[in-house]
Amino acid sequence: MTLWGQETVLPALVRQGRGEKNDLLPRCTAWGNHGLLVHGASLRENGGLEALQDSCPSGVQVRYWEHAGGEPTVEQVDDLREAAHDHGATWIAAVGGGSVLDLGKACAGLALAPQPTAAYHAAGPPETPALPFAAVPTTAGTGSEATKVAVLTNPLTGVKKALRRQEMLARLVILDADCLKGAPAESMRNAGFDALTQALESLMSTGATWFTTQLAGQGLALLAESLEAALADTGSEAAEQLLLGSFLTGMAFANSRLGVVHGLAHPLGARFSIPHGHVCGLCLPLALEFNREAAPKGLQTAKEALGGKDALAFVRALADRLTLDNPLQGKTISDAGPFINEVLASGSTAHNPRPVSAEDVRFLVRALGLTING
Ligand SMILES: [Zn+2]
Repeated sequence: MTLWGQETVLPALVRQGRGEKNDLLPRCTAWGNHGLLVHGASLRENGGLEALQDSCPSGVQVRYWEHAGGEPTVEQVDDLREAAHDHGATWIAAVGGGSVLDLGKACAGLALAPQPTAAYHAAGPPETPALPFAAVPTTAGTGSEATKVAVLTNPLTGVKKALRRQEMLARLVILDADCLKGAPAESMRNAGFDALTQALESLMSTGATWFTTQLAGQGLALLAESLEAALADTGSEAAEQLLLGSFLTGMAFANSRLGVVHGLAHPLGARFSIPHGHVCGLCLPLALEFNREAAPKGLQTAKEALGGKDALAFVRALADRLTLDNPLQGKTISDAGPFINEVLASGSTAHNPRPVSAEDVRFLVRALGLTING
């Protein structure tokens, strides 16, 4: 196995500990005294926003921008870029779940670019400089704080895909488990399945190296140990483990890439409006079966991380205990051609250990309970 990939991306500075998020704004001021902070509604509702505002050093002007909710769109990034421009922001911070972090990241990456976001979503990132970006995750699962990727949807074309740019990688990440307190159980659960999927797909990926395997193996062990306890008590020590497990997993897949679950999850999520982690949790057992013969080393590492349990048996039992229902059952994909093309064109699918054919895509979506026509 390769020790280290040709290119390795890691955030510049990572701070960990309860209460660290109140150090976010003082640290961001190193990049200038005008910044924009993106957050979700929950941060305002749980008082976290007020605490952040109180921590803002005097003389620093922060524009606060609340994400309206849902999966981020290119239009929302346009709005955010305009707000950053009007405010004269020289840095962008995001405190939230994966959608909020992706919005902030895309805004930082495109802040000085001339075209609308849709142009870069379709054709790749610009060459204009990016603004410094700081990420504080409030869910444990997406790993967005560790990646150079923003997953965006274009509502006009219905295409959901990643915008990638090295310069969008966070320069500062704050892992503060207090941010998970009071998170809704269902979104915690879905984020947990996303993280588990990312750990397992990273371990099985054709891009896995010794380095990413260390991160994903340790990440998987932490996630498996802590997910249920953290769900039961979001203020517990388990929540700290979960947040760290998710971050390790994020750094792993940022460097190894993923597999067919993520190849399927974006086009399925865009068509059926089901949260990303939920779709991942439904696809993961199928992918583990599909890849069983093709990824013996990755699955062996997973087994060790899971205390000797087989990954497929572990995931199935967990999905049962956490009552992961299947809202895809009985639904129809009516545009088989474009759907299959999107799955096959995905960089995630390209890193799946077993090559994926159009027939395989049809097989996998039928196994999810979907009908595929056209
Ligand atoms: Zn994911």
